[in-house]
Amino acid sequence: MPRYFIWTIGCQMNKAESQQIAGYLDSAGYQAINSFSNADLVVLNTCVVRQSAENKVLGTLGLLKGLKNEQPNLQILVTGCLVNSNTQELKKRFPHVDLLFKPGDYHELVTWGQKQGIPIGQRLLRYTHNHAWITSSPCALVPIIQGCDNFCSYCIVPYKRGREVSRPVEEIVCEVEALVERGIKEVTLLGQNVDSYGQDLPGHPDLADLLNELNSINDLARIRFLTNHPKDISRKLIDTIASVNKVCEHLELPVQAGDDDILKAMRREYTVEQYRKLVNTIRRKVPQVSLSTDIIVGFPGETEEQFERSLSLVKEMRFDVVHVAAYSPRPGTIAWREYQDDIPAEAKKERLNKIEELQAAIASEINSQLQGRQAEVLVEGRKGGKWFGRTRSNKLVFFEDDGDWLGQSAGIQIEKTSPWSLKGEVKK
Ligand code: SF4
Repeated sequence: MPRYFIWTIGCQMNKAESQQIAGYLDSAGYQAINSFSNADLVVLNTCVVRQSAENKVLGTLGLLKGLKNEQPNLQILVTGCLVNSNTQELKKRFPHVDLLFKPGDYHELVTWGQKQGIPIGQRLLRYTHNHAWITSSPCALVPIIQGCDNFCSYCIVPYKRGREVSRPVEEIVCEVEALVERGIKEVTLLGQNVDSYGQDLPGHPDLADLLNELNSINDLARIRFLTNHPKDISRKLIDTIASVNKVCEHLELPVQAGDDDILKAMRREYTVEQYRKLVNTIRRKVPQVSLSTDIIVGFPGETEEQFERSLSLVKEMRFDVVHVAAYSPRPGTIAWREYQDDIPAEAKKERLNKIEELQAAIASEINSQLQGRQAEVLVEGRKGGKWFGRTRSNKLVFFEDDGDWLGQSAGIQIEKTSPWSLKGEVKK
């Protein structure tokens, strides 16, 4: 049986697409393995959103050149954000790659497979391709919208992934039903901006409508989605989170900066006050909600005072999770064209550390309030001899037990907390 290995970096969307590619290869009789060595076919699912990710991709492509020299029959496929309309240029640059296909362009993959005599059939519809059911996790990632119509000045995504294209409601419902039949209990719906979902579809169904449809699937226990855009999230969606029982109380709501001038330069199209009001509304309507956010430090021209405003916003908002990144210019973006990357690397690092330290203290306080409480945990797997899973509010929980908890819902008494995870015991 030929073997394949999929190397994936980047966002959840890439992970979901890797699951789908794995589904194609499984259906063609390939066997998944966990490393490049001994593989007959490798897929690189790439990310170039940050320079560090792009460097890793280029390093791995270099490594594969060496492997291909040793094993000329090795087939190398590359997809993800590295590949867009630049395939001709990439082909010249990386002649050892057998196929370059744009993210989500499975027709290219199928056509190539057929030319190679790999029996990947067109008749296999996309919704049967999610690899998640043959992995042991009860959680699956389901892309619902590709691309992004916003042009945040620092972001390369719209140039790499193109304009927004939503999948029809029926197609998503079919995929989720197929996943549930195979034991999936939780789905995370993915999009660069899930709040735009459906605007390009006939009748304009929105994310709230989709959540209501999915909520009626028997045996599906939980529904999550990411990422939201503060300027686009609707009251209807907030009401849906509050009232539809399978929709989890967790939101990824990137604020990016705590200063209005920086937000304007980032082209985020909201002010700090609008964001504050939005969070207040969400917390009033969904009192159990946990909130994650993203912050960029060291955006061009960010003064110490402006950075301090981001720090104060983190203090004020008391997010559950903050993902912080130092600004890095991406060629082709508006910020790259119009602004100078003028904040020294040490200052960016210092600002990043300050946010991380503050957030660790906040998350530690928030999580410590869960000590002694009971949590319902959907068990996703085992790590280091412990079971792990997540609460509805997306808190990572570990526990030890001899039973087989995989895919089960466990009632856990929380005994120890840290900023990043919780530990507990099965409540007997
Ligand atoms: S909303 Fe902005 S940051 Fe998010 S993917 Fe679109 S352009 Fe990038």
